[in-house]
Amino acid sequence: MTTPDGLGHTVRVGQLAAPPVESAAGAAAPRAVPGAAPSTAPTAGASGLGGVPQPPSSPVPAALAHAAAGPRYWLAQQPVEAPAVAAPTTPPSTPPSGFNVEAVRRDFPQLHREVNGRPLVWLDNGATTLKPRQVVEAVAEHYSMGTSNVHRGAHSLAKQATQVYEEGRQAAADLLGTQDQGEIVFVRGTTEAVNLVAQSWGRANLGVGDEILVSAAEHHSNLVPWQLIAAERRARIRPIPLLPDGQLDQDAYRDLLGSRTKLVALTHASNVLGTVPPVAEMTALAHRYGAKVLIDGAQAVSHFPVDVTALDADFYAFSGHKIFAPTGIGVLFGKRELLEAMPPWQGGGNMIDSVSFTETTYAPIPHRLEAGTGHIAGVAGLRAALHYLAGLDRAAATAYEEQLTNYAMAALATVPGLRLIGQAPGKIGALTFLVAGTDPIALAGALDQQGIAVRAGHHCAQPALASFGLQSAVRASLALYNTVQDVDALVAALHELQSQ
Ligand code: PMP
Repeated sequence: MTTPDGLGHTVRVGQLAAPPVESAAGAAAPRAVPGAAPSTAPTAGASGLGGVPQPPSSPVPAALAHAAAGPRYWLAQQPVEAPAVAAPTTPPSTPPSGFNVEAVRRDFPQLHREVNGRPLVWLDNGATTLKPRQVVEAVAEHYSMGTSNVHRGAHSLAKQATQVYEEGRQAAADLLGTQDQGEIVFVRGTTEAVNLVAQSWGRANLGVGDEILVSAAEHHSNLVPWQLIAAERRARIRPIPLLPDGQLDQDAYRDLLGSRTKLVALTHASNVLGTVPPVAEMTALAHRYGAKVLIDGAQAVSHFPVDVTALDADFYAFSGHKIFAPTGIGVLFGKRELLEAMPPWQGGGNMIDSVSFTETTYAPIPHRLEAGTGHIAGVAGLRAALHYLAGLDRAAATAYEEQLTNYAMAALATVPGLRLIGQAPGKIGALTFLVAGTDPIALAGALDQQGIAVRAGHHCAQPALASFGLQSAVRASLALYNTVQDVDALVAALHELQSQ
């Protein structure tokens, strides 16, 4: 079967129909792969880098894996040298028990298609994740059989749709570790979540001279909304700078905190550097000054378990489409007392208690902050995605991704002239790099010709790139369904392009 791919090419579609296999999640337990399966994590020698010299199997020295911390308040005037020599970390010869990447891959139809005549290697998970068939089916089910609005109407389909919708809210509460469904507000995505807090909480709580600390690693969606409200309230944005390896400068952070600090905006995982800051400690510090903390979990939730109660986060945001769910749906978590004190941001249906020309009263949270008809099919898809994830062994998935990330960092370092941006310990698999003498956009285009999807540009994190003296870079970003073979395909293609 062939379909146009929207890029002017004809692509062969692989298994678009759901393959008749057991699912990696849900009722079917992940299959153990006794003593075998280098398919998920072969030794480096067996990884097959094509014509590329095979890396030795010795592990990367720790000193190379994570660049040494440099001076404070560092802004890269001189480019950081990529490690001159590094060998791929030897991945474990068996996958961590409880996580079977091949079973997971079977649930994602798009992983089995071709692009430009090559099997798709999807390394653009930072932009959006692929969807398992369970999510596709849940959305199709809503539109084909379950269409109804929610929270109104006495008929059966309204009740059913409402049940699915509220189960989606429960699934989000479970994902984030809160017992209180009232603390889960449905929004369009992380961007809308931050705008909601800025426009509602910010307008009510920020005043002249107040300070908002924003890390230099933030996505624009956790910076620009603060700039907008700061300009209106005559408050001030103060950046928390980065260290050379991409960590947030904790000394600078402590110096910046003060009685004027009203809010700290922090990423839980940087989409460009991969850095996972110590958000629990940073939150505890902010609270000592009475400041609130908003954590952007867009890149975190799909990679590792999150517990907003343990973090003591005041606000936490994520987007469904980066956690295997549809676009257009996301979640804002807020502590009950904060959400209850927030004035409505948008007005309309669903968010009121009673309306008259003399007095309008509002519904309790979360509905007060959810004006208008929500993305009902999106919530059905989100529910399916979160149930899917809950059916996996998340600790094993996280361990697998960590090993794959270490492997990828070391493998990329074998490419001549490659400079990896962001080498903080414990980073997620957001692998942003430059290759000497190559334009990032052109490089991404050349990789696309080989079926390898990566992103190039500023990644909506211009201050983060500027901290490294850059405006643009290539990013390969991993998800739990990626494999050593995906990484090898990328690295082999980069070697080949460099040798031309
Ligand atoms: N924060 C981070 C860290 C992101 O990676 C992204 C998306 N790239 C966003 C926020 C914005 O997410 P959305 O566009 O889904 O609102």
